[in-house]
Amino acid sequence: MKKLKIPPFSSGGLILSYQCSSSCRHCIYASTPRWKDWMSEHDVEHYMDQIREFAPNQRGIHLAGGEPFLNFDLTLRAVELSVEHGVPLQYVETNAHWCEDDELTAYQMNMLRESGLPAILISVSPFHNEFTPFERTDRAITIAREIFGPYNVLVYTSYFYEQLQDYNPHATVPLNRYLNTIGHEAAAQSFVEHYGLIPSGRAASKLNFLYQKQPASVFFKNNCSAEFTNPEHIHIDPYGNYITSFCSGISLGDAHQLNSIFEGIDLQERPIIEILATTGVEGLLKLAQDQFDFKVADEGYIAKCHLCQDIRAHIVQRTDQFEELKPVEFYRYL
Ligand code: SF4
Repeated sequence: MKKLKIPPFSSGGLILSYQCSSSCRHCIYASTPRWKDWMSEHDVEHYMDQIREFAPNQRGIHLAGGEPFLNFDLTLRAVELSVEHGVPLQYVETNAHWCEDDELTAYQMNMLRESGLPAILISVSPFHNEFTPFERTDRAITIAREIFGPYNVLVYTSYFYEQLQDYNPHATVPLNRYLNTIGHEAAAQSFVEHYGLIPSGRAASKLNFLYQKQPASVFFKNNCSAEFTNPEHIHIDPYGNYITSFCSGISLGDAHQLNSIFEGIDLQERPIIEILATTGVEGLLKLAQDQFDFKVADEGYIAKCHLCQDIRAHIVQRTDQFEELKPVEFYRYL
């Protein structure tokens, strides 16, 4: 049996839900209000146990979404469970959409702080600003700095926090208006330099018009084994999918049994992972052309992950035979 050995991770996140108040155009997880499911409290506790036992060398985990504050009770409980189980917690992410008034913002942040949350990450970008008025982001950052301390508030990113102060704080700002004021080229460059935009998920489907495209064959050089075995950045989603690097929509296995993932995933059961780990997107393209009538886009692709995702989205429309292409809703909500 051919196996791909996945090392225990040293840093990762629990995606409590893909549900979000927003549908940001850069979101690699295709989060949107249309997702409905949340990780159960039982599963959060189970993962804390599993992490402590099978991935004990942790720099820390973070709580992610979607938007965790849409289910504050679960987020709070997840903080408590990480403390109870001795799993180091780094931060909770939020888009600050819920920070409509000072009292509620301070109350919820205080509850988390008192339960053991050491830090909070607050997202701020032109993508978030399409859905969240800047005044809410500003409120979240100001109050968080009082509660967590200035060094425990991760503003992602401070470049856009400064820049967006020039726009109406009480209204959302459509991305097209932002692009027209900054200029497409300057904006595209700043998304990469100051946000670290990842060319997968919705960024690949909705923002590719900003970047130069190249023929598919340009991306044939490397396989994806390094991304699959990267221990620095993994996520476990509410369905138990184990996702490495930024390969959203690809499940390496069932995270309920972390030990079995770390012993090696059976590549016969997950042939698309075998193809990507050995022959990369070239092999995936061949499979899709030979078996699923896939046609490459004439205009080309901005990155190998853009091509990969385009192929996978095509395959899931044709068949549900690939266990590793999950969750399928990811491909619908791109
Ligand atoms: S090409 Fe696909 S499998 Fe490879 S790193 Fe990108 S998203 Fe992951």
